Amino acid sequence: MRKIKHLIFASAIWGIVCGTACRAEEIPLIKIAKTSGLQMLSANSFGTKSIVFAFKDNSRVFTFKKVLMPLGFSAIKRYGRYYVDSSDYKYHIQPLLPTTKHHHKKLKIIALDAGHGGEDNGATAQWDKLQEKFLTMDVCLRLAKLLEKRGYRVVLTRSQDKKVPLPERTQIANRAKANLFVSIHFNSAPSASASGIETFTLTPSTQASSYQVSSRNAHENFAGNTFDSLNTVLGYCLQSSLTEITSAIDRGVKHSTFVVLRDLKCPGILVECGFLSNREECKKIASSAYRDTLAQSIFDGIVKFDNLLSD
Ligand SMILES: [Zn+2]
Repeated sequence: MRKIKHLIFASAIWGIVCGTACRAEEIPLIKIAKTSGLQMLSANSFGTKSIVFAFKDNSRVFTFKKVLMPLGFSAIKRYGRYYVDSSDYKYHIQPLLPTTKHHHKKLKIIALDAGHGGEDNGATAQWDKLQEKFLTMDVCLRLAKLLEKRGYRVVLTRSQDKKVPLPERTQIANRAKANLFVSIHFNSAPSASASGIETFTLTPSTQASSYQVSSRNAHENFAGNTFDSLNTVLGYCLQSSLTEITSAIDRGVKHSTFVVLRDLKCPGILVECGFLSNREECKKIASSAYRDTLAQSIFDGIVKFDNLLSD
């Protein structure tokens, strides 16, 4: 925390030094690299050989170890130097720095949420009429087996083909005192060429969701916003694991105010495991071996996240 205040203060001074061209809430990458003991690797990247944070001018995404991560505000290039918003440092960069410790209860109880159910089929594949609600349940059950074998307690928000209202899914996790909430979905898009895996965490306080125009105070504060920084780490762990193991296209970690994520009393994530509207990807999803791989890679991501936590 002290480091953040120091950086924000330093950036305010920097703003005064360079006049009106700089806004006080911007932090130069070079300051972040220096404060965290990392090297500038180029004008728009810093880190080490194996840990690289890379930014693009005027872009609300950056890459961390090559995985696409979200920003609330565009990184900006000015006079050859790159700057990020102080809230992006707090929510997205600082949590991923190798020196950051994550003081949070180790995982014991994990809530798994199979998307859709009952009269709500979710997406349906055009070719073989595969329904999302059955696929999400299938992956959840495979994942539950792996987690239980490892010693975690698993709570399912639904175990049958029935409709469970979205707020109720969150409440099931909260009542069970879950330490983690993972919602499983499959994607669909009007364009048949869209493919790949994306994960969503709750939009951080004072920021806009990935598909909204960037603005400050974009949404009210939800209970789930307690975990904004941890959700970044969770997003990275799951997205990196999923895209490495499946070799699917990395569509990135994104932000949304999905109802199931809003009132959680623990870190939470919604995983879109691939597009049923893409013929090639749908063929893969239709195979139980691939759904095993999906479950295994989500499991690996959860374990990776748990290993970073210290009570
Ligand atoms: Zn869905």
